[in-house]
Amino acid sequence: DALSSGRAVEVFEAHRLAEAPWELSLHARIDEGLRNGDIWLAYQPQWDFHGERISGAEALIRWNHPTRGFIPPDQFILQAERAGRIDALTYWVLEEAITAAQAVNALGPRFQMSINLSAQMVGKSDLVGNFREIVTRRGIDPCLLTIEITETSSLVDRAEAVHNLSLLRELGFRLSIDDFGTGEASLAYLADLPSDELKIDRRFVSRLLTSERDRAIVSSTISLAHALGQRVVAEGIEDQATFRLLASLGCDQAQGYYLSKPQPFDVMFLDYQARLDS
Ligand code: C2E
Ligand code: CA
Ligand code: CA
Ligand code: CA
Repeated sequence: DALSSGRAVEVFEAHRLAEAPWELSLHARIDEGLRNGDIWLAYQPQWDFHGERISGAEALIRWNHPTRGFIPPDQFILQAERAGRIDALTYWVLEEAITAAQAVNALGPRFQMSINLSAQMVGKSDLVGNFREIVTRRGIDPCLLTIEITETSSLVDRAEAVHNLSLLRELGFRLSIDDFGTGEASLAYLADLPSDELKIDRRFVSRLLTSERDRAIVSSTISLAHALGQRVVAEGIEDQATFRLLASLGCDQAQGYYLSKPQPFDVMFLDYQARLDS
C-alpha cells in the first residue's frame, strides 16, 4: 500500500544519502536533520543589569549528526549558505524561537528572544515579507524578538540591507549588531544600519581584566552606544570579576558561561521558572 511503499522509498533515500559525498548532499542532509530533530536550538539566557533579572535568551543552532557527530554552528551555517539552505534554516529557527518565546512569556514577565540572521540574508527581497507573514500567523508581537545581524560573510547589498532592516524595525522587531568590534561589524555598521543594540564581541570581554586597552575599548564602546541610544550586551562572560566590571562600566546586559551555557529549551525554561518562584 501507499504507506509502506512510502517508507520503502524513505529507507532507500536515507541509505543513498548516507553514501553520498557530504557537500553534494548537504541540502538533503539539512532537511533530514530538521525532520528528525538532529538539528535543534539551544538557549542562552541574558541577564539585565538594571532589572537584575534574566530578561531574555539567545537561540543558538545545534546539529548532532548521527555519524559525523557534533557539527559547530559557524561551520555549518557557512555550509548552509553555500548549499542554498540558509533561508529555510533561518525561517525554521524563527518558528522554533517563537514557540519558545511564547512559552516563556506565558510565565508573566517580559522575555526577549534573540535569533541570529546571517549577513548574507539581510538584503534578500523576500525577507521582510516572510518575517511579517510568520509573526502575523503566529500571533506574536515582534517587539519580543531581537534579530542579531551576524557575520559569516559581509552584507551582500548594503542599500537593500538598510532598507530591509528599517522595514523590520517599523514592524517592531528589535535589531542588534552582533560581534561588534570584529570584521566589518564596526563603526561603519553603527553609522549605517538601523539598530537598537550592540553586542560586544567575546574577544574584548575575555581580556577585560588583564588588558587596559580592552577595558578602554569596551568602556568607550558603551559610551558611544549609549550616546546613539543603543543598548549594550556583553557576550562571553566567564567569571564574576568580569561580570562585575561590566556592570560598573554601565553595560546593560550580560551573557556568558558565568550565567549559563546554552541549554536545551526545557532546561532553560525550568531554570528561569525556578528563579521566578524563588
Ligand atoms: P554568536 O552569535 O556570536 O554566538 C555566541 C557564541 O559564543 C555561541 O557559540 C555561544 O555558545 C558562545 N558562548 C556564549 N557564552 C560563552 C562564554 O562565556 N565563553 C565562550 N568561550 N563562548 C561562549 P556557538 O553556539 O558555537 O555559535 C557560534 C556562532 O554560530 C554564533 O556566534 C553565530 O554567529 C552562529 N550561529 C549560531 N546559531 C545560528 C543561527 O541560528 N543562525 C545563524 N545565521 N548563525 C548562527
Ligand atoms: Ca549572536
Ligand atoms: Ca556574537
Ligand atoms: Ca560570532
